[in-house]
Amino acid sequence: MSPASPDDPPPAAPEAVPGEAPSPATTPRGRFAPSPSGRMHLGNAWTALLAWLSARSKGGAVVLRMEDLDPERSKEHFAALILEDLAWLGLDWDEGPGKGGPFGPYRQSERRAVYRQRLEALTARGLTYPCFCTRAELRGVTQAPHAGDAEPVYAGTCLRLTGARRAAKRELGRGAALRLRAGEARIAFEDLVLGPQMQDLAAQCGDFVVRRSDGVHAYQLAVSVDDMDHRVTEVVRGADLLDSTGRQILLHGLLGGTPPAYAHVPLLVDPDGRRLSKRRGDTDLGELRARGVPPETVTGWLAWRAGLLDRPRKASPRELADGFSFRPLPTGPVVVPENWMEDMT
Ligand code: GLU
Repeated sequence: MSPASPDDPPPAAPEAVPGEAPSPATTPRGRFAPSPSGRMHLGNAWTALLAWLSARSKGGAVVLRMEDLDPERSKEHFAALILEDLAWLGLDWDEGPGKGGPFGPYRQSERRAVYRQRLEALTARGLTYPCFCTRAELRGVTQAPHAGDAEPVYAGTCLRLTGARRAAKRELGRGAALRLRAGEARIAFEDLVLGPQMQDLAAQCGDFVVRRSDGVHAYQLAVSVDDMDHRVTEVVRGADLLDSTGRQILLHGLLGGTPPAYAHVPLLVDPDGRRLSKRRGDTDLGELRARGVPPETVTGWLAWRAGLLDRPRKASPRELADGFSFRPLPTGPVVVPENWMEDMT
C-alpha cells in the first residue's frame, strides 16, 4: 500500500456542484424505472402498481424511465413489451418514452451526454478518481445491485496511487473506471415503508464506481441524475435496493439536488424464499396474458397482498388509488404460491 501523495486529488468536499440543480417540483412525482432485460413478471408489476398508487393517490404525476443503460443487457423488444404490459395492467404514465415530456429524454441510452456532463462537474471538484482495477472487480455496476449481487467494499487501492503510477498505468493502456469519493459519508433518511435508516458508506461499499472503464455510466450515477432531472419526488422500489439509497442521496447532494423520498417495498418471492424465478410461467406477464388472465386478477391479487383489499378479488388500479397507504404492507417478503390465482374471485 503506497502512502498518499501530494498530487492526489483533495478529499471529497461536502458542498454541491453549483449550477446543476433543477427547481423543486410542486406536484408529487413518482416513477417507474424498468430495465428492459426481460419481460415483466409479478414482482415488477408489484412495484409498478405501488409506485403508481402512491403517486396517483396524492394527485401526482407518474414518469416512466427506461433504464437501458447497459447496451449488452438491454433489448429493444423488451422495452416495447414493458410499455405494453404496464398499459395492460392499467398503469398509465404522464411522461416517458414515446410520450415525451418537459424533462426528457426518458431513456437512459439517450442521456449519456447528461451523465458525462455531471461527471465532469464532479471530477472538476476533485470528487472522483480513476480506478485501474480489473473488470472482474467492477462487474455489474451498470445494473441496480439487487440484494445478493452488490459490489464488494472497495479497499481504496487506486485512491492511493501516486500521480506517476497513475500515468504509468495509463501508458500501459489500462482503461480507467471512475470512482466517487464516498469518504466516511453516513447517510440518514426516513424510508416511507421501513422507517428511519442510517447507511455507512465506508462499511457498505467504499468509494463506488460511477463510470465503467468502457465508458458506460454506472447505475448509481445514472439513477440519481435521472431522478433529479425528472423531478422525481418519490421513489418506490423493492427492498433489495435499500442499500443503494445512501449512495444516491450522497450523489443528489453533491449534484446540488434535493433527494426524493424513498419507499422500499417488500419483495415478492418463490415458496422457497428466493427471488421470483424467471422460469415460472404463472408469474410472467407474457404467459399470463397469453392464457387470457384479466389484468384485474393480477392487480387485485397484488393489492390484496399489499393489505389494500381484505380478500383476493379482481380490482383495477383506478379503484385502489383512493386512500392508498403503505401502512398495511407486510413487513417481510411476500410469498407467491404456485396456485396464487386459485382464490381469486
Ligand atoms: N431499473 C432498476 C430495475 O429494474 C430499478 C432501479 C430503481 O428503481 O432505482 O431493477
